[in-house]
Amino acid sequence: MSNARSVTVLGGGLAGLSAAQKFTEAGWSVTVVESRAEVGGLASSYENAGYTYDLGPHRLYSNLEALNDHFKMVLDGNWDYRDRLSRIYMRGAFFDYPLKASNVIQLSPWLIFRSFFDYMAVRVRNAISPIPDDNFENWIVKRFGRTLYELFFGTYTRKAWGIPCTQISADWAAQRISLLSLWDTVKKTLFKPKNVPRTYVSRFLYPKTGGIGALSLGYRRLIEKDGGEVICGARVTKLDSEGARVTAVHYEKDGRDHVLEPDLVVSTIPLTMLVPMLGERVPKEVHDAVDGLIHKGIVFVYLMLDRETLTPDHWVYIPEEHIAVHRISEFTNFSRETAPAGKTMVCAEITATVGDNYWNMADEDLIKLAADNLATLKLLDPTEVRDGGFVKRVDYAYPIYDLTYRGHVRSLIDYLRTYKNMLSTGRQGLFRYGNMDHSIAMGHAVARRILEDSAIDHEQIAAGDEYFG
Ligand SMILES: Cc1cc2nc3c(=O)[nH]c(=O)nc-3n(C[C@H](O)[C@H](O)[C@H](O)COP(=O)(O)OP(=O)(O)OC[C@H]3O[C@@H](n4cnc5c(N)ncnc54)[C@H](O)[C@@H]3O)c2cc1C
Repeated sequence: MSNARSVTVLGGGLAGLSAAQKFTEAGWSVTVVESRAEVGGLASSYENAGYTYDLGPHRLYSNLEALNDHFKMVLDGNWDYRDRLSRIYMRGAFFDYPLKASNVIQLSPWLIFRSFFDYMAVRVRNAISPIPDDNFENWIVKRFGRTLYELFFGTYTRKAWGIPCTQISADWAAQRISLLSLWDTVKKTLFKPKNVPRTYVSRFLYPKTGGIGALSLGYRRLIEKDGGEVICGARVTKLDSEGARVTAVHYEKDGRDHVLEPDLVVSTIPLTMLVPMLGERVPKEVHDAVDGLIHKGIVFVYLMLDRETLTPDHWVYIPEEHIAVHRISEFTNFSRETAPAGKTMVCAEITATVGDNYWNMADEDLIKLAADNLATLKLLDPTEVRDGGFVKRVDYAYPIYDLTYRGHVRSLIDYLRTYKNMLSTGRQGLFRYGNMDHSIAMGHAVARRILEDSAIDHEQIAAGDEYFG
């Protein structure tokens, strides 16, 4: 692979673009093939009726200073720091997220007593007969007790993932929640920790204009400046291979088929989409692994509001089970440039699976549902949605870490390793619930692995018990 000079990158999200930028910088011949009308993937931004909006809230942050500097370079001055405000709205009150010790007094004395009693009871139970960490529910109940599990973690996760918590792998809890207990929070409030986990980091980067999609457009500019090609509206349909090599990439654009014959292929499209594109030579057990992986989609409902601001938050989690919306975000709190003067927009997220009721619901019904949900919670009056709203549906939003996902992902990645001139990376290419910085780090790792002929392993990024929040 070290003699390769041309690369085709499948997918123009942040993983694909960050890899492509490194290859063009090194003088390679680079083509990015992206199915949507513009680059950005999940970190895209759009414009409508004077508003700029993202696919849900996106805060840009890395634990690595060099990566934060890299983001600033790509954004070329179009960035600002923001101080994160995110809260949980439940039982008619706002709670800080991450929780603060002072939140405890917002709970009723009965609930505090029950939480504490439950916590002690579970500790005793666990000492007598250890509760296995075999699924998300057990993992949380064992550490926090059932009352706190039901209060937020259980209800929110069930709602956001759309499956029972007993079917979710404990991996997810270990990665995302381990430091968010109330007891820990009390300690952290009193004694600030030296190494602040991601969930507690308050400052993040956000573009001054153009929404989070400005980052991808920055990459696109850099790639094209160095002679790379970015083809949008182009859907990869098939890969040809001979022996251990991919020999051709087929894509469809404007109703016509096109073929590229690069030395190297970097794929960032969903694993479950890539493997079947390799055709009949893929063994049956590998196809079975594809069928075993599940993605959840999100229906994003955007409500245009005739007021300056709804809440001061960047986003608010809504665990209440009788409400369809699980999170809202407000882009004017990320940048005032994202809405006309005196107006704001709220983005309401509803978990869905392609073809289910929410996915198939008519846009006007979804807009009414989101407005009614927020009215039920007394967050807004539906008459404020005077300018209406619009809807976006995203199918590959969340890779679902169910109880069997690990084995399926391993089979697919091991199979792809048999192709010596192709690497699969990114959130979709590794079926990894990572953030923007992880996808960018994965793109960089793939490029360095080839360009420097190094052993750097992109598969290890965002694989451990990191804190993602
Ligand atoms: C609601 C939500 C909120 C988030 N909030 C944050 C946050 O606050 N902070 C953070 O850091 N991260 C956040 N993330 C995660 C972040 O958006 C992703 O991790 C990151 O954007 C993934 O980039 P990627 O390139 O790996 O994957 P993707 O963005 O999914 O890119 C894959 C690309 O492949 C393209 N593609 C697919 N099939 C084909 C095909 N057949 N042919 C050609 N192209 C194809 C897709 O169109 C897409 O552009 C959030 C994600 C979601 C869903």
